[in-house]
Amino acid sequence: MELRFRVRSAAAARVVAGRPRIRIRPAARTSPTLWAQMRLCALRAALSTAKEAEGWVLHSPRAWLGTAFHVLMAARPSDAGEAERVWDTAIAGLLAASSGHRLDKRFASPERWPGYYLVRQRAIASAVQGVLPPASARLPAGGRRPLRGTELLLTARDGLLAGRPDEFDRQSVTEFKSALPDPAWPEAESLTEGYWRQLRLYAVLIGETAEWPAVARIVAASGQVLTRDVDRPACEAEADAAVAGLRAMNEALGHGSGSAQLATPGEIECGQCQYQAICPAFWSWCETMSWPQLRQPAARGIIEAIDPGVDGDVYAVTLRLDGRHGEGGPLPLALRRSVHGDLTGCGLGAQIRVVHAQMRQDGRLRADMSTCVFAEDELPELEFRRSA
Ligand code: SF4
Repeated sequence: MELRFRVRSAAAARVVAGRPRIRIRPAARTSPTLWAQMRLCALRAALSTAKEAEGWVLHSPRAWLGTAFHVLMAARPSDAGEAERVWDTAIAGLLAASSGHRLDKRFASPERWPGYYLVRQRAIASAVQGVLPPASARLPAGGRRPLRGTELLLTARDGLLAGRPDEFDRQSVTEFKSALPDPAWPEAESLTEGYWRQLRLYAVLIGETAEWPAVARIVAASGQVLTRDVDRPACEAEADAAVAGLRAMNEALGHGSGSAQLATPGEIECGQCQYQAICPAFWSWCETMSWPQLRQPAARGIIEAIDPGVDGDVYAVTLRLDGRHGEGGPLPLALRRSVHGDLTGCGLGAQIRVVHAQMRQDGRLRADMSTCVFAEDELPELEFRRSA
């Protein structure tokens, strides 16, 4: 990193083609996932319905482990060998899907995902030992609707609520998770409550489709099972609130609201938000906040120097950060092409956004596997439409 030189300012020379656009429209229906986003921020919810936004989101290997666990449990393997094959096939499918994603491809080695081997081992053991009783295969008398299902698309509330419960039968609805939150985490309670909220909506979907389940369960790969009786009035209230949230978001879009009107930025709302980089409201909020604004801070600044490195992977950019965040002087940031992409072609003067960074002990930023960096002129613009 000692070798530092200045490269010609490509920012001035580069002709920026039309920036990509993310079109945000009213949504036809809500879902447990959309409702979870909407409770935090309507803009976040609206972005989650826009397909074009997916390419700018770093997804989580933790969620992929949950998906693989669910596939494994749905397969109900008879022995460890079969379970291993099901697991490995599910992971291979997830890797194939992520390999073409500009941000997710950094996770090409599952053995480097946090807790991968532990979750794999526990998931296989849980699937073979059978932490769940066998699901009922019975049909309701005279009905055509199934009373059990895995990832079946169900709708309720005149089609305004939709979702795919991981698994249900006539007694229960089950959500599979790769792990339960560590009770020592400050967010553990709200994370677990979010899972119950999801299950309340699934119970409504099942209840309106077939029969109300009596019990809701969260099953972790460790074999841990959380169980609650289904409280029908609470489920109905949750569904009413989710549909009201959908209507409010659509009404706001129909009246021409943009990011400033829809967004409710804040430490909790934005902290884990996948859309920070492309969210105008987030960057306006950052300007008003003291540093660091989040546990995983975000920063915006201009490239002052580039060190391309010597091994073809590690390189560094020095950023002059905007506003009060820049008071600490230029920020050298070590990056990896294989993880963060290559900013060396942006040139001096290019405006950069850094999101989900880590804070070093000396108060400076560092980039890790969850950090994303973007040149601003490549980022998409949000386009709000009044109708679908
Ligand atoms: S970054 Fe914050 S304001 Fe923007 S969409 Fe996410 S939660 Fe909303």
